Amino acid sequence: MSYRVICLACGSEVTASPRPHCSCGHSQLEIKYNPPEYFLAQLGKKLEVKSMWSYAPLLPVHPNTEPVTLGEGDTPLIRTSNLAKHLGIRELYLKLEGANPTGSFKDRCASVGVTRARQDGYKAISIASAGNAAASASAYAARAGLDCWVFVPKGTPPDRIVPIALHGAKLLQVEGSVNDCSDLVDVASERFTWLPVTTASIKNLYQAEAPRTIAFELWHQLDHRIPDWIIAPVGGGGLLSSIAQGWRDLLYFGLIDRLPRLVAVQAEGCAPLIRAVLKGTTPDGIESWGPPTTRVTSIADPFPMDGARAMRALKEHGGIAVSIDDVMAFSAEAQAARLEGIFIEPASAIALAAVEPLVAQGKILPDEQTVIIASGVGFKDMQIAASLINEPPIISSDVDAMFAAVEQLI
Ligand SMILES: [Zn+2]
Repeated sequence: MSYRVICLACGSEVTASPRPHCSCGHSQLEIKYNPPEYFLAQLGKKLEVKSMWSYAPLLPVHPNTEPVTLGEGDTPLIRTSNLAKHLGIRELYLKLEGANPTGSFKDRCASVGVTRARQDGYKAISIASAGNAAASASAYAARAGLDCWVFVPKGTPPDRIVPIALHGAKLLQVEGSVNDCSDLVDVASERFTWLPVTTASIKNLYQAEAPRTIAFELWHQLDHRIPDWIIAPVGGGGLLSSIAQGWRDLLYFGLIDRLPRLVAVQAEGCAPLIRAVLKGTTPDGIESWGPPTTRVTSIADPFPMDGARAMRALKEHGGIAVSIDDVMAFSAEAQAARLEGIFIEPASAIALAAVEPLVAQGKILPDEQTVIIASGVGFKDMQIAASLINEPPIISSDVDAMFAAVEQLI
């Protein structure tokens, strides 16, 4: 076997099943990989990266399994110029996860989750999601010819729901939060033998490994330099904790000698992880937030299911935690579009919006290399994007009217 599943509580090795669990009753598990020597040598030098699956020896699938792929991963890392200047920082990068096939980093998770479902003989997958993960899962299930059951919170924007339905998923809108959806998915999956691919490590350990590849890609794209800061949005906490794990894997293999620092960013109207960090709560003591008041719905998880992992990652990486209000987030979304030509979703804008206060507070220094994980593309939430623009004038089709209108806009 090219990997082992280890219990974080008691250290026992756990049988690598579709839904592994430790007999000690603890649910926090970790995967340790044993990649071939030639692959590690390539990784440290010049690995030709074509997709996330270029890192297959570091993903939890059988080496002979054909991946279910739509070309996810190998997303652009853009060094900003106008944005960096505006924010008073020398090297600011955006990792454009919106360039994935369905427009978010969740495609990485879905690719691994659906590949595992097929490897383990499942005919159907299931997922609870506020939109992005379900869009990914439904697309990859369609690609693999599997049924897909999706439970979303009622009020999920239509821009997110339409592609899920179009991919042929069976969709239920639940009057409750994404955590309520997840509880229902667990019960239904047990009853109907679906494989849950909900993007939380305790729901599906394997898909949670996928965003580690973002760390591997960053390391290659930065010519094997280690950034000073990585700033990521937090909903469930899986993205941040998985990227952190990717860097720790590189450290474990002896390929790097230090870790980047991390910033976890949540919306002020739903910030259970930030509250727990600021209060000094233990990782297992995170309390649920209650009904979210943020409009950034894709990260409005009242209880971050990977929050304990994210808190541990912050500690190991010397990380910090901040919350950002919606107005600042939407302003950052408009800035990225106007100053750099990059259209990001509100959840990504939340991470970008954290730069300004952190630079002002002297926590990020102007010459420190900083990477924003832009988790998804702006098309994911057109209602919010539409609220950021002025309605374009309508003119009659004559030259005088055109000149008058242009004069107004100059
Ligand atoms: Zn155990």
